[in-house]
Amino acid sequence: MTNPLYDTLFGQHHAKTSPFLHLPDGSSISYADFLGMAAQYAGLMTELGLVAGDRLAVQIGKSPQALAVYAACAQAGVVFLPLNTAYTAGEVRYFVENSGARLLLCDHSNADELQSVADSCGAVLETLNSDGTGSFHVKAQALPNRFETVSRGEDDLAAFLYTSGTTGRSKGAMLTQGNLLSNAKTLTEEWQFTDKDVLLHALPIFHTHGLFVASNITLLAGGQMIFLPKFDLDQVIAQLPSATAMMGVPTFYTRLLGDARFTKDLAQHMRLFVSGSAPLLSETHIQFEERTGHRILERYGMTETNMNTSNPYSGERRAGTVGFALPGTEVKITDSNTGETLPQGEIGEIEVRGPNVFKGYWQMPEKTAEELREDGFFITGDLGQFDSDGYLTIVGRNKDLIISGGYNIYPKEIELLLDDEDGVLESAVIGVPHPDFGETVVGILVASGDQDPDLVAIKANIGKSLARFKHPQRLIVLPELPRNTMGKVQKKALRDQYADLFT
Ligand code: ATP
Ligand code: MG
Repeated sequence: MTNPLYDTLFGQHHAKTSPFLHLPDGSSISYADFLGMAAQYAGLMTELGLVAGDRLAVQIGKSPQALAVYAACAQAGVVFLPLNTAYTAGEVRYFVENSGARLLLCDHSNADELQSVADSCGAVLETLNSDGTGSFHVKAQALPNRFETVSRGEDDLAAFLYTSGTTGRSKGAMLTQGNLLSNAKTLTEEWQFTDKDVLLHALPIFHTHGLFVASNITLLAGGQMIFLPKFDLDQVIAQLPSATAMMGVPTFYTRLLGDARFTKDLAQHMRLFVSGSAPLLSETHIQFEERTGHRILERYGMTETNMNTSNPYSGERRAGTVGFALPGTEVKITDSNTGETLPQGEIGEIEVRGPNVFKGYWQMPEKTAEELREDGFFITGDLGQFDSDGYLTIVGRNKDLIISGGYNIYPKEIELLLDDEDGVLESAVIGVPHPDFGETVVGILVASGDQDPDLVAIKANIGKSLARFKHPQRLIVLPELPRNTMGKVQKKALRDQYADLFT
């Protein structure tokens, strides 16, 4: 095999005239046509001067063409670098400069602004719009729909995927062909994907969840995808009867549960619902089972490692946990200070090792050395705990840990109590600076109805179950929690907003 990623995920489907992508307008694209388009794109990249190992940055809407750029990069050995469509031109400049990308693809509506970014970074700019039009597509159409696959190995870089920037500035994770392939193989097997599957795909494709977890697995299995531009409740409900599986962030599931059209009948034929990228509340898991009879399969992963743990396909899917370490991946809980493995049941740093773990952060040797140990374990920055049956629970992020008067406080413990209170839909607990304690606890609440919850009663109630140093010093009601497109609560934004509460 000359190019493991391309050959395994894409090349095997060259002759297939059966559908690969179904679009909301009822049309579909066959595997052969998709790969023909990818070959034209690979040809154009080469004409534009890109060679194996060069980076191609894309900030484009989700479309079959956008996915074909990923396939084209794999075929040409070019490193694929997808960017969140929400980034401003200033933010895109950082990524293009940081990565040294030679080609930047953008939507025509941003072309004027991004031209100067491309110029100053020495990159070529072309457009590729969500409707499939644009200079890149037009030029590529003049080229043959066959391209000689560039030879690559498992250790060669396939993608730079920038982290979501939840805890600080996004970092470019260098992922190899082997990283992506090993995880795709493991998940396809664990979740029993086959060529009979039709995945309802409503996730963005600039993030590991929609790009690698969802698309790589479908490609490896030779299945089909209903490819929606974004999560649109009406479209998802309309398309669900044609799907066998769905992957989503927790907000997809809470939004489905909020709609009366989402019934047991509608979900009955489905084989699998997967959740990840942010914590799925036990309550959502339970409500989902009550409504549909399905237990959502929750898994845990990140940009740097792909997926690390998963609840079992066959066997008990335990609410509030992210399941077991995936085959081939080791997961351990360690003491933040000493790095020693902790006894089962104790909370500590989640560390992972396996063929899925990235090669380091692009041009950040110090950060890489801090988080990637010499023995191959990656310190994820998440805190977790194994139960006696081996299920992993994520307790939160290390950076969200509150240290008040020298005591460690895990926000999740308090959030779980707050969520159970009358009139509370959800909560986020943060630490803010305090003159006496260093940091103190603040609880942000979202009301479940029109009326604000009774904060005095809530304080008194949760106080009964918490040591005094964990008591929130302030409870604040907001209309909603700040979230990014992946449904991740932006605690950093909350901490910044309330930094001066006690100082
Ligand atoms: P940054 O690293 O830039 O701060 P980020 O960690 O949010 O951003 P991603 O790589 O997109 O960027 O997200 C990975 C993180 O998402 C994990 O480290 C974990 O905190 C969280 N996560 C993923 N799956 C789950 C899950 N099932 N339950 C709870 N948290 C999850
Ligand atoms: Mg992270």
